[in-house]
Formats: sequence, C-alpha cells, structure tokens
Amino acid sequence: MMKSSISLSRRNMLRLMGTGALGIVAGKALAGAPAPARAQGANPPPKPLGFFAFQVGDLEVTVIRDGVRPLDPAILATNAPEGALATLLQENGLPTPLNNTFNVLLVKSGERMTLVDTGLGAAAGSLLVTLDALGINRDLITEVVFSHQHGDHIGAGLLDGKLTFPKAMYFYPEVEKGVVDKAAESGGITNNRNLLKAAGDAGQLTLFKADTEILPGIMSMAAYGHTPGHTAFMLSSNSQSLLCTVDSALNNVVSTAHPEWHVQFDADKVQAAETRQRLFSEAAAKNMRILAYHFPFPGTGFIAKSGDGYRFIPSM
Ligand SMILES: [Zn+2]
Repeated sequence: MMKSSISLSRRNMLRLMGTGALGIVAGKALAGAPAPARAQGANPPPKPLGFFAFQVGDLEVTVIRDGVRPLDPAILATNAPEGALATLLQENGLPTPLNNTFNVLLVKSGERMTLVDTGLGAAAGSLLVTLDALGINRDLITEVVFSHQHGDHIGAGLLDGKLTFPKAMYFYPEVEKGVVDKAAESGGITNNRNLLKAAGDAGQLTLFKADTEILPGIMSMAAYGHTPGHTAFMLSSNSQSLLCTVDSALNNVVSTAHPEWHVQFDADKVQAAETRQRLFSEAAAKNMRILAYHFPFPGTGFIAKSGDGYRFIPSM
C-alpha cells in the first residue's frame, strides 16, 4: 500500500497506527508521491480500467469498464433447489463472492456520441477518467440514455448537482419516471429526482417509450421485472445488431444456466425471469451478439441453448 511510496517499515507503520498518527504522517510523507494521501478507509480515486471498441455496422461501439465489485452469488438464486447453486459454482470454478463488472457503453455515429448508462459515479466508477484518457471531452457527449433507475446506471449523470454532460440530451424511460415520481423519498429515488429535475430544468430531458427507435440505430425494448421500467436496447446498423440486455441477466454463468432462478435485486422476480428467458431465447435463435452490463468485461458474446437453459460464449 504505502510502503513502496514512503519507505515506512512494517514495524514503523504498526507503531504509527498505534499512536493514531498514520493519516497525518503518511499524508506528509506522501506529498509529491503519485498517489494522493487519504484518510484511512477512504476508497482510492478511480483510474481507467480499460475499454473495448468494435463495430456494429456503421456504429462505433466502445465498452468502458467502469468498475468491478464483489457479488454474493446467493443473490442470483433465491429460489434455487438446495445445493444447486454451490454445485454450479464449483463446476464452473467460480469464486465466492463473484466478480460483478460494470460495462458502460459509448456509441459513436457520425457527429453523435451517445452514452448508454453512466456507471457508478465519479467517486466510485472509472467512466469519467476513462473518457478523459480517451480524449473525449464531456461536451462532446450528445446523448445519455438511461436503462433504469439503479444507482450503478445513473451514477455519473450528475456531477456536483449539475449535468455531467452539459450539452447532452438525457433520455430516460417514461415508465421508470412514473415509478420514481410515485416512490417514497430514499437515497436512490432522491438521486433520480435530482437527475430528472436538473435535466428537465435545462430543457435536456426526453422521456422515451419502450419498443421505439429513440435514436437512429438504437431501439428501446421493454425488459421489465428488474425494475418496473427496466429497458434493454437493440443497436442496429447495416444488418448487424447488438442486443444490450442491461440488467436482465447479472452473471454470465448463473443467469444463463438458470434463467428461471429468482434474483434478489429484481423488483418483480417472476416477470424478470420471463424477460431473461425471452431475451436469451431471441439471442440464441437469431445468433445475435449481446452486451450484458454486469458480465465479465467486455461483457459481449453470444448465447447458445444448453440443456434446459443457456450458456454465454464470450466473443470479442
Ligand atoms: Zn446494474
């Protein structure tokens, strides 16, 4: 951690920790070192974690790795038969907790630069520093399309209460706004209200319906269940397509092998399971490339029928 930067021996560190002075001493010693000093327990500032670019017809698609967090696999299988989840994890050599990735999408088409979701936010996610590293000024983002209300998708929509992408039109699912409007105040709901108010006040809010072409080459698809207005997207150009399943499936192994298993995070578990089956069935039947927001980076590949379920075949 700090040892390499400030040459504190383990013994000295332990002594300093014992006096409660570590934060101050380390802060002083780290002046001028590459990593800024922070209070104990604070998260390190995000750094770029990678991106992956490919074409969907004329659309230039870039998946930006916003972050990785641990995920308790039991969340993905609340109605699984006893022992079935443990067996599946073991057969596939998966760790517990699982690694849960956050894949944000950037779509370039001519002068248009569209973000699909915004990740965990400036403090926790790597989207903004990755855009900086790619030389993409925030002014250049022309649209931000949100799939649903969860914090790991709207996170970087606002920065210090202002629109992070000041020239972008913010697209938000109409059904989801109805839910946010009616819900009791809470952390996540407040964040959504602030986002919707800031975009609305700026005249930069467009509500969209499901199953409509919201931008050229980007169709919204009703994928309800995870949240009441959760939206998937179909990107199409020149007879190529990409099905963005967003949070219809959360893990590349568990969600595909057992799409019928209920997910603790899903607002309507039965509807979410039906949506998952429907999207997988369509992707498998049409041999369609998918992009899943939480699958291991870059989260793109194909879905094949396998036994009573499916399997994900990563493909770059
Ligand atoms: Zn999510």
